[in-house]
Amino acid sequence: STLKKHPARQTPMMRQYMELKEQTPDCILFFRMGDFYEMFFEDAQVASKALSISLTSRDKGQPDPIPMCGVPHRTLDSYLAKMVEAGFKVAVCDQVEDPKSAKGLVRREITRVVSPGMFTDPEHLPARDNLFLAALCLSAGKAGLACLDLSSGEFRATAVEAGPPLNDELARLEPAELILAESQMEHPGLSQLSNQAAALPRTSYTGKPPTPNQAREILGQRLPMELEDAPKEALAAAAMAWGTVLATQRRQPEHVEELELYQVETHLILDASARRNLEIFRSLAGKGRKGSLLHSVDRTSSPMGGRLLREWLGFPLTDQKRIEARQQAVDELVGSHISGQVLKELLAELPDMPRLVGRAGLGQATPRDLAALRDGLLALPELGAELCKLGSPIFAKQKEQILGLDELAETLRKTLTENPPISLADGGVIAPGVDPDLDEQRSFSTQGKDWIASLQAKLKTETGIPSLKVGFNRVFGYYIEVTKTHLNKVPEDFIRKQTLAASERYITPELKEWESKVLGAEEKALELEKTLFLKLRREVADHSRPLMACSRALAVVDVLASLAELALSKDWQRPVLKEDGPLEIKAGRHPVVEDMLPEGEFVPNDIHLDDQEQQVMIITGPNMAGKSTILRQTALIVLLAQTGSFVPAESARIPVTDRIFTRVGAMDDLAGGLSTFMVEMTETSRILKQATSRSLVILDEVGRGTSTYDGLSIAWAVAEHLHNLDQKGVKTLFATHYHELTDLAGECPRVKNYNVAAKEYQGGIVFLRKLKPGGVSRSYGLQVAKLAGLPQNVLERAQDILNGLEKNGHSVKPAHQDNKTKKQLPLFETALHPVLRSLKELETDNLTPVQALTILDEMKRAV
Ligand code: ADP
Repeated sequence: STLKKHPARQTPMMRQYMELKEQTPDCILFFRMGDFYEMFFEDAQVASKALSISLTSRDKGQPDPIPMCGVPHRTLDSYLAKMVEAGFKVAVCDQVEDPKSAKGLVRREITRVVSPGMFTDPEHLPARDNLFLAALCLSAGKAGLACLDLSSGEFRATAVEAGPPLNDELARLEPAELILAESQMEHPGLSQLSNQAAALPRTSYTGKPPTPNQAREILGQRLPMELEDAPKEALAAAAMAWGTVLATQRRQPEHVEELELYQVETHLILDASARRNLEIFRSLAGKGRKGSLLHSVDRTSSPMGGRLLREWLGFPLTDQKRIEARQQAVDELVGSHISGQVLKELLAELPDMPRLVGRAGLGQATPRDLAALRDGLLALPELGAELCKLGSPIFAKQKEQILGLDELAETLRKTLTENPPISLADGGVIAPGVDPDLDEQRSFSTQGKDWIASLQAKLKTETGIPSLKVGFNRVFGYYIEVTKTHLNKVPEDFIRKQTLAASERYITPELKEWESKVLGAEEKALELEKTLFLKLRREVADHSRPLMACSRALAVVDVLASLAELALSKDWQRPVLKEDGPLEIKAGRHPVVEDMLPEGEFVPNDIHLDDQEQQVMIITGPNMAGKSTILRQTALIVLLAQTGSFVPAESARIPVTDRIFTRVGAMDDLAGGLSTFMVEMTETSRILKQATSRSLVILDEVGRGTSTYDGLSIAWAVAEHLHNLDQKGVKTLFATHYHELTDLAGECPRVKNYNVAAKEYQGGIVFLRKLKPGGVSRSYGLQVAKLAGLPQNVLERAQDILNGLEKNGHSVKPAHQDNKTKKQLPLFETALHPVLRSLKELETDNLTPVQALTILDEMKRAV
């Protein structure tokens, strides 16, 4: 359309541009012209901003010039990275024939499409995170969700309930891009997506979601036999993801693994808010990795290990056998410290294998990539030998995958030079002895170069010009250079080619003859190298499956070794896993908080929850006492235990837990439109609906977002409900500053009161951080406020109000004891003007007239 405004400039090239642009309307088109990728029209305006490059125009003199900007082709990748990070999709259009031999306009084609979820440049990918492209297919109440990491080949799908479970899954995967069928772009189910999921860059899949038959056809060999009757939503989503990749990559990515179908229920479920609150992957404060559980436990040595650890923490197991298999392996490494260290050192030397295989599969691997893969493969036998020394079944299984690639390793070793260049065009990629033709061309070129090199010395003596030089440049090729002072000695048969300030350049027919021999041989050698390299790359791609299995096995070993090192260095212990029974932690610590404190300052605490006597622990204590820390460390210990890790405690007995819920009150975050209190209540209601007797519920200050009475009443009712749920109850830790909640223990037999002790000391407060039985009757709010530096006069005034409150017996009582009378009582009512307050308190019946007058006078003076 924009070109129509420029009818006068409908050059053949611009028409070609518009045609390509129409093929990929939702992309910014990078159009290769010479050494640059150019963008035009709106694309140029958008891209110049996103890339901070200058916007020019194609035909400046014209009245209505075409906006244009461009980037050099050599640094394309870094610009693509920037575009993708800014959320754009880019179609890269290349010249697909040699401009020299092209008749007329060079043929151009879109060679690939790069988008936030389909970005495979190793330089710009975060090493320790997966980059998932997700596809979503909605149907009545259900959602199919598929995710594919194009760089490492992982490909999974599941079907979940639409609504919160879907959001949880999206929060766990954190995809970079979401594919939706065109027909579902306005689907009402989308309104249930969390803000985060709704904000993902979207790509549309043409038409409707594929039917199961269509899906099977699209997925072809990526669909293992046993998945034939997978849920139709999951199949459709998987087919949409795969179809999109095929269409945009313009080739079959060989390295993508068979589709793996999973069920969220077979893993410990953390809802999105638990994952956030427990700071599993990123900290609440900085939003970064630092301060998160992942950051503090990550001792992996390789990028693939780092990514797998994240996956393990995201998908803790609920199968006791599998958990124990991992534990056993960690235990073995903990027991034989040396072996773990050796493994880690060997792993640290390895490149990012799955991504290298991925690049081979995508036809993007450079000579240097394959050399890195070669070095990795050649290091494997040593690693395998180390694994042979270990007895755990899990290691035996990995060893099988790791060994068995010798032949490919050998081919790579024989074929590639030791340190090949990044670019194939630079030559020197294929080792000598691989191909006789190549060796011959190389020797022609070497002979020629030798002859030319000897020419300088020969000519110097023949002509008697001491400064005579033989040189080379791209434009003129080889030349003989003579400085102006010696021009008189130049022989007759020299042909002048170029005049410089201080010298003249010549050629001779003989020199040119040798030159063409050299250049011809070099060109032929390059051609041969290219063919051989592409063949090698194809061979690697053909080995994608065993290579991916090997990479995965390496990652598993890396994570296990990392967990072992963690346990050793931080004195973590192996937890005992049981199908059911009590949750018992002796001297548990919070892994992240402990890291941030000086050595030995963290105070460990015990936790005991069962379904007989102590199922709900109500934990009171002043702000800052350490309540949240105890709550979170309990959840983290359970999560770590089900990951297969050792845990920060002297000992722990963990019943296999199906879900961890957390609700943290008064979090002043996110939620467009919803008030904090509304979010809190929505999440709480979800917990009450979904918790089972095998869940762990962590409630921190629930009810805080509303008035005191409302809040207390809700907190009371929620705790009661959890205690009585399905007659069995749910293991619950409930931290609260409503000390009135401790009365609940009197009514519900399995509710027990605890407090995190604090001592008043010289008007201030000392935190002991120790969890003790019993409730507290004070909240020490003013002492904490003082600690926080609230001005003295405000503190005094607060004390004043508090005294008044306490005197009037305004202690807050739970609603259910007195349902009729409890209405919302705003806190400010207690902050009445002193005069009004004394007026309220005045017992007029007992006053004499004189007393009344005196009081009236006092009041008058007080206003
Ligand atoms: P609360 O939830 O009671 O307001 P937090 O659990 O947030 O208190 O703890 C406040 C701070 O106290 C933490 O940031 C940490 O620095 C410190 N802390 C908490 N628990 C411990 C502990 N067991 N040992 C040492 N310091 C602790």
